[in-house]
Amino acid sequence: MMAQYLALKESVPDCLLFYRMGDFFELFFEDAKRAAATLDIALTARGEHDGEPIPMCGVPAHSHEAYLARLIKAGHRVAIADQTETPEEAKKRARKEGRAAKALVARAIVRIVTAGTLTEETLLDARASNWLVAVAEAGGDIGIAAADISTGRFELSSAPIAMLDAELARLGAAEIIAPEGFERAPDDAHICARSDFSSIEAERRLKTVFGVATLDGFGQFDRAELAAAGGLLAYLDSAGQGALPFLQPPRHHRAGDYMLIDAATRESLELTHSASGNRGGSLLSAIDRTVTGAGARLLAVDIAAPLTTTDAIEARLDLVALFESDAGRRDHLRAALKALPDIGRALGRLVAGRGSPRDLGLLRDGLYAARDLHEALARIDEPPALLAETLPRLTGHGALSDHLARALVPSPPIDTAQGGYIAEGYDAALDDLRETAGDGRRAIAALEARYREARGIASLKIKHNNVLGYHIEVPSKHADALMAADSGFTHRQTLAGVVRFNAPELHEEAQRVMQAGAHALAAEAAHLEELIARTLRDRDAIAATADALARLDVASALAEQAALRGWTRPRLTAEPCFAVEGGRHPVVEMAVERQGERFVANDCALAPEERLWLVTGPNMGGKSTFLRQNALIAVLAQAGSYVPAQSAKLGIVDKLFSRVGASDNLARGRSTFMVEMVETAAILAQATEHSFVILDEVGRGTSTYDGLAIAWAVVEAVHDVNKCRCLFATHYHELTRLAERLDALSLRHVRAREWQGDLVLLHELAEGPADRSYGLAVAKLAGLPKETVGRAKAVLAKLEAGREATGGIAAGLDDLPLFAADVPQMEEDAGDPLREALDAVHADDLTPRDALDLVYRLKRLA
Ligand code: ADP
Repeated sequence: MMAQYLALKESVPDCLLFYRMGDFFELFFEDAKRAAATLDIALTARGEHDGEPIPMCGVPAHSHEAYLARLIKAGHRVAIADQTETPEEAKKRARKEGRAAKALVARAIVRIVTAGTLTEETLLDARASNWLVAVAEAGGDIGIAAADISTGRFELSSAPIAMLDAELARLGAAEIIAPEGFERAPDDAHICARSDFSSIEAERRLKTVFGVATLDGFGQFDRAELAAAGGLLAYLDSAGQGALPFLQPPRHHRAGDYMLIDAATRESLELTHSASGNRGGSLLSAIDRTVTGAGARLLAVDIAAPLTTTDAIEARLDLVALFESDAGRRDHLRAALKALPDIGRALGRLVAGRGSPRDLGLLRDGLYAARDLHEALARIDEPPALLAETLPRLTGHGALSDHLARALVPSPPIDTAQGGYIAEGYDAALDDLRETAGDGRRAIAALEARYREARGIASLKIKHNNVLGYHIEVPSKHADALMAADSGFTHRQTLAGVVRFNAPELHEEAQRVMQAGAHALAAEAAHLEELIARTLRDRDAIAATADALARLDVASALAEQAALRGWTRPRLTAEPCFAVEGGRHPVVEMAVERQGERFVANDCALAPEERLWLVTGPNMGGKSTFLRQNALIAVLAQAGSYVPAQSAKLGIVDKLFSRVGASDNLARGRSTFMVEMVETAAILAQATEHSFVILDEVGRGTSTYDGLAIAWAVVEAVHDVNKCRCLFATHYHELTRLAERLDALSLRHVRAREWQGDLVLLHELAEGPADRSYGLAVAKLAGLPKETVGRAKAVLAKLEAGREATGGIAAGLDDLPLFAADVPQMEEDAGDPLREALDAVHADDLTPRDALDLVYRLKRLA
């Protein structure tokens, strides 16, 4: 057995091996130690290997999924070695091969379970996609293949190398695979290195998998995309041991069709996850009113990838509007959707070969429900384009669902072992077998009555268990009479208190029941196989229905949110403006309301001639909230949602950036100022006139002079070079002087008032700069001891007196040259290696990490 174990283990060195032994999966050696530690179960020992006891632990086969879930979550990969024959078959085989009867049951690795290849309901989050992502590099681009095999969603995209982090952040992959030696991935990503990334082989495989002669129908894929797809397919092949899980035809995710949001921006805006990494506290969790798992998954996809084409956005908005304007229609749809099973995931399990009769039942119910919805929605006059496109996908399954309805009982079980899932009347032969078994059972019941009467033992029972089968059981005190040789009973077992017997008539009836039962089970299994095959013939159409239902759920959920929270439909324009009246922050608003307070709505008006707002004002005054709410409004609008505002008109945003000054990000534990600068550099390199940028206290992570200088230069660059729409919050009051020189810069402040010695924060935006900093008032508000505040006041008075005399830290800024380009250049030095290295840099191609490496390299040259 150990030899068999070690051979299996050798084929999956990077996995924990679950080795099936009877009712348990056992783990040995290092695997056992690691699993026992993760699962907190007992580590035992068994036998010896090379003179050492073999560490071992095990989990019950019937509940192994729960243990698997914990191991996968902890980052392990697990290979499942199951028995591929019964012990009887093994014995027969051994005899045939002329060996002793002591035969080893054959085992094989039937599956490799990894975070990205799950289909089990118990291991997946119903409301989140589970992406397996493969990345490959070709022709200077990164190809990305992403599949959620639990539903078959499959997309290919390519991006410049510098955008890899942004794409990975969008997907939030459960598992990433990359070619061996791939060095571009972010440090913290858990990457599995593989060798089989061939674009030529991939193209061939894709054509075979989808049964097409050319891939043109799906899109024009480049070499990087195909290579990534190849890596993904090869990985799925090995994980499924040759059985490919569900993949829908690939969709082409073209980067330009979506708002570009880099990883740092996603993190700082908390789009789909909050800073703590959970869903709670994120934009998504605040607005998610979907009622199905598929709807929740699609909403997450939409929020993570807002659109950039007006037509596509308007199409989604039209559908939301349809349900927003009619509460009755919305309620009806949402009630129907709520009752809907998750047919996408049920289908995924069936394709992966892990489906059950219950999954077929779910499909039957779901497809009927989709048809009913179609009927209701088809009555809508002049349906918006997206509805017209979605409706036909809801129907066309009549033959299949009727077939399933005839074949299956109303609520079929997950477990097939007991049978009973095929409906009566579907198969006459099966009905006969069941009747025979039923007759037998009735005959056995009659026997019980007869034995009781004939023997005069009222407590005599006929029972059934897996070891003895049917048997007669009497309390010990009545046993003696039945032990006699001529009693007609044969003794089988004596237990404490009871004695068990067999009898010829009982044996005969039991045989009848058993045989008929076994045949019935086999017949049901054959029907199941056939029903699954029949269902899978329609898999693409079923997947399309699942997607259509998800789209309806998302639209009606956003409509519900809009109606309940008083949101408005955004108007989209081509010119880069941003005019929001009465805007609110969806997450902060809820938090503020929970505290029984009112959220103060604020306007934001950016246009080409006034595109940069510099927002000053006291800490806690609402600056960050204001910045973020506007970024979130852009995300929501372009994702096809109404927005939390009285009115909103916005020009399509091509790239969105959000940066927060370093000290807010200490939790990340990196050289925070460095990170802040690297990330800010990325904005200056990438933002266009159509981009939207929020900068919150950038420059704060260093000394006052450095920080002010950097903030100053960044504002100038954003204004003069990038010309993007930008909200810049700062506590450097000195920056307000920039308004004199930068035409498109406008000053705003969050209002505050001191009232009877206390600070009142109004959270209201007003024109002009803040009149002063209120730092001490905030300190007092925060509960700094009275004495300390008093002392600070004295220090401040001294400092301010000094400022009067010297002109303060901004003294001299007035004679700064008008244009940044006029700043004196460093002296040219022919053959300067530093300069040469700099000349060779293509700033646009740098990832933040490249940039960091570059800085170190330059420092060494200096
Ligand atoms: P700042 O960036 O100026 O330090 P924040 O934006 O972090 O301030 O806001 C601090 C707190 O003030 C928030 O957590 C929230 O409780 C409250 N707040 C912010 N904006 C508003 C608003 N518009 N209406 C009501 N309360 C607000």
